[in-house]
This record gives sequence, structure tokens and C-alpha cells, in this order.
Amino acid sequence: MCLSVAAKKVDMWLRILCAVLMVSFFIAEAPAQTTKSSKATAATANKNTAAGPRDFRSKNFVIHTDLSDEDAQELLGRLENMVKLISTYWGRPCRQVIECYVVKDLANWPQGSIEPEGLRSIRDGAGVTRTTVRTNGVNFQAKSIVYAVADRGTPQHEAVHAYCGQTFGTTGPLWYSEGMAEMGQYWKENNSSVNCHPAVVEYIHNTEPKSLNAIVNAEEVTGDSWENYAWRWALCHVLATNPNYAPRFRPLGIGMLTGQKVSFESVYGTMAKEISFEYLFFLQHFDLGYRADLCAWDWKAKFKPLLGAVPITSKIKAKGGWQPTLVTVKSGTQYDFMADGKWRTSKDSDEVSADGADDGRGKLVGVIFDPDGYVLGEPFDLGAFGDWTAPDDGQLFVRANQPWKEIDDEDSGTVTFKIKPTGKGQPFVDPRRPGASSPGARSGNP
Ligand SMILES: [Zn+2]
Repeated sequence: MCLSVAAKKVDMWLRILCAVLMVSFFIAEAPAQTTKSSKATAATANKNTAAGPRDFRSKNFVIHTDLSDEDAQELLGRLENMVKLISTYWGRPCRQVIECYVVKDLANWPQGSIEPEGLRSIRDGAGVTRTTVRTNGVNFQAKSIVYAVADRGTPQHEAVHAYCGQTFGTTGPLWYSEGMAEMGQYWKENNSSVNCHPAVVEYIHNTEPKSLNAIVNAEEVTGDSWENYAWRWALCHVLATNPNYAPRFRPLGIGMLTGQKVSFESVYGTMAKEISFEYLFFLQHFDLGYRADLCAWDWKAKFKPLLGAVPITSKIKAKGGWQPTLVTVKSGTQYDFMADGKWRTSKDSDEVSADGADDGRGKLVGVIFDPDGYVLGEPFDLGAFGDWTAPDDGQLFVRANQPWKEIDDEDSGTVTFKIKPTGKGQPFVDPRRPGASSPGARSGNP
């Protein structure tokens, strides 16, 4: 791809906004079938125009579009794949066909063939989903229509709104609605790694973090700015993929979509400090490929101070972020440590000790966490064997050094980490000396 095309794509993405329009009718009788938009078949009427819009159908979609046959089929494939993933996630099948207007070039569309609100959005390089809900207070019937520019992400984003609108009669509060629509755009089957647009990574890394409160309790303004969409996506991504929060996130979402009395605060209020810490940690370290599941914080580990001569032992995996050593250290105190075993930080790299490779990859590094203030200190090197003086009071966490986005399923091996106060108990044997390593601590080989 040439640079100008890439730049244009980013620019196009940055302009993309989406609006969700909900129109509700209360009717005394049981809901009747919603009237189809009078303009919905306009595309069909023009199917004989050479470059004009035509209809393409799949199991769950009908799209009116001026895309080429090939591109239209490719889009249908992506939409079907996505709706399969999101309907599994929310546990509700797609109840009716989702109708979409996907516009590549407005010049190909006869005047009046697109509703004014859709037209406005498309002229802005964006998308809009209008959902009409008819309800008698008990049951509802909903019909959504998507209008989207024919770029890569917008039709998928809007189709998430349409699925929610038709399935639940609502798309939920703004932060959830837009955050999950962005999630839907990026979702891949059995792959929870970060897969957002690179511009989102760049923007978030260069911006003061937006607080959870500012995201969740912001005034409801649909289609406000792509930057706000980036924050909503980041929060939803953390909550949906970090195992500390994911089990509550799906029921919270379904609760909000089905009108139960639940909210972010009611579900996560007791974990506010933990979520805030991990959310900020994510913003700081995430990149394309980052695994929030593997880098989740271990809040259940029980720490104790090192007082006597008996070392405290912990198992540390290459495949993980900061992991608890179970030791609370004291500022200014010197400790002896050893890390016995070998690990790999990628499939093809050599197995190394906790000293790591020459470039520092795979070296055991540490950090101190203050459990009162939820603050992390600066990381420091440890390695396989030596002594170290604690720079602060707090809980000692360690990991195998590697870029955060490269912590993945290709990492293997575990080391056994031991630590004790210097000068107390039996001196440690350097695990790197021939014959010193205990076979049980080795890994990676049968
Ligand atoms: Zn949206």
C-alpha cells in the first residue's frame, strides 16, 4: 500500500463518527410489524443503473450498495462473521435481517434514495443507525436501518448498533453502546488481543488518560468525537477481556440492554480501585497484539513480609505480566534472590535463564506495588541470582522482560523464584552453576 493511501485511510477513520437514533412509539395494541422505510427499496429500483446501488443479501443482512460485486460479497462475509460472534457473546440470535445502506460514492446514488439523516452522516464520512421501536410496554418490535460509508470499519460498527437495536430494543448507555460497537468492529474469533486502528493506540498514548468516571458518566452525546469513541472502546476492551472483570461484564451488558436495574457502579463499585488501576495500566502499555487476559493483575495473591531465615518461593511464568512473589519488602533492606529454571519469550527464541538473552529479553525484572495507594514504582533488573536492596516498601512483583505487546501464547516456561533477607538462613546456590539447578524447576523440555 502506498503512503498516500495509508494516510488517507487514517484520515478517513479519524473523521468517522456514528450516531445512534432511537425512535420509540408506544402503542396500545400488541406491536405490529414496523413499516419498512419508504426509501428502503430505492436502491432496488435503481439496480439497473451501471454504477448505481444494487442489493446484496445474506442470511442476516440485506445491503444496498454501490460497492463492486466482489467488495459487497466480502463485506457481507465480514458482517455475517461478526454477527455470529456478537450474537454468541450476547446469547441472543439475530432475530431479523439487518438492512444497511453502504455508500462508496454518493454520486452513484439517485437523489432521494437515502433518507436525509443517513445522507448527512454519509456526507460527513460517518455512519448512523436509526432504530424504530414499537412497544406496548410489555413486548416490542424494532427495526434498524444502517447508513454507512463504505470504509472498512463503519458498516461493522453500525451493524452492532442495529443488532442490539433489533434484538433488545436499545443499544444501552452511550459508553457501552459505542464501546461495544467499536469492539464488534475489531472482534476476531478466539482472539482477545488488541486489534484496534493504529491511530487509536497513538492517540491514547499521547493523551492524558480520561477517567473511568468521565467515560461512564459523561453526558449522553451520540456522535461526539472519535477520540471519545477511543476511550469507550478502551474501557470496554479491558472489561471484556481481563478475567478480573469479564465475568461481570457480559451480564452487566445484558442487564443494561434488557432494562434491568444495573449500572457500572452497581456491578463494579466494590472493585473501583482495581479497575481504575488496571484500566490506567492498560492505557499505558497496550498496543496492537496486547493481551489484557495474560497481563491481568493477580489481586488474590497473599503477601507476607520476609522476617525469618526461611525463603519465600513463587513460580513465575514467561507467559504473563507482573506476577506476585508473595513477598512484602521493606525500603532499604537487602535481599538475596535466585530464579531457577529456563523460559522462552517467543516460539523461536532460545531457552534462557532468568538472566535473559544478551539484549535483555527474558531477564527477570521486578517492580514494587503499593497496595494502599495502588501505585507502581519504577521497574528494575533482577536476573537469575544476586542480591538487591528494596527502594520502597511494598509488594514485589516480577516478570520476564519483553515488550508488553509480545506477551502471548508463544511464551513458555516457568522459573522458581526464591527470596530471603541477606545474611539470614542458608546462602542460595547460584542456579546457573553446572549441576546446581533442580530438575523440577526446569521447563520447556520433556
Ligand atoms: Zn456508534
